[in-house]
Amino acid sequence: MTSVYIGIGSNLGDRQRNCLEAVERMGKMPDCRITGRSDWYLTKPVGVEDQDWFVNGVASLTTEISPQVLLRRVMDIEADMGRVRRERWGPRIIDLDILLFGQEIIHEENLKVPHPLMHLRRFVLEPLAELVPDLIHPSLGLSMMELLRRLPDDGQVVTLMKEQ
Ligand code: ATP
Ligand code: CA
Ligand code: CA
Repeated sequence: MTSVYIGIGSNLGDRQRNCLEAVERMGKMPDCRITGRSDWYLTKPVGVEDQDWFVNGVASLTTEISPQVLLRRVMDIEADMGRVRRERWGPRIIDLDILLFGQEIIHEENLKVPHPLMHLRRFVLEPLAELVPDLIHPSLGLSMMELLRRLPDDGQVVTLMKEQ
């Protein structure tokens, strides 16, 4: 059994409902079990700023499937929920990123784990530090709480949503 963390994001339609639906769908993936999730956060877009704010969170699950099979399954969920791929970092109904897959380090053409930008993104580290503050990043050797503490104050806005 491996503990896996999935980053969830949406900035189109009913954003919070989309995020909840993604968690529900992931809970139905064969040989996977949802073990927890963070609160939801409202976050300012990074990269392409001219779009609506995101709702972001993180879900934890345990699984026996391989990282590649998990990637296929979460991409199937994105497609089933109506995600259309347009510009990079543009608006999307749902985005599911594999952040961490146990302590594995994966450098495959279509799959990089830990997610290469996770330690620089407040919208990932806030929910991860809430869920598993002491979890160690496999290649950086620092906990989620420590990575969050070390983030520079560079204008990334992440606020806890009142209505959960
Ligand atoms: P970012 O990766 O910066 O968050 P994004 O989520 O907008 O950007 P997508 O368009 O959703 O990027 O995904 C592009 C590709 O990223 C996917 O086709 C997938 O093969 C690849 N990919 C590589 N590593 C991962 C990972 N850890 N989790 C999900 N997708 C990944
Ligand atoms: Ca992403
Ligand atoms: Ca993605």
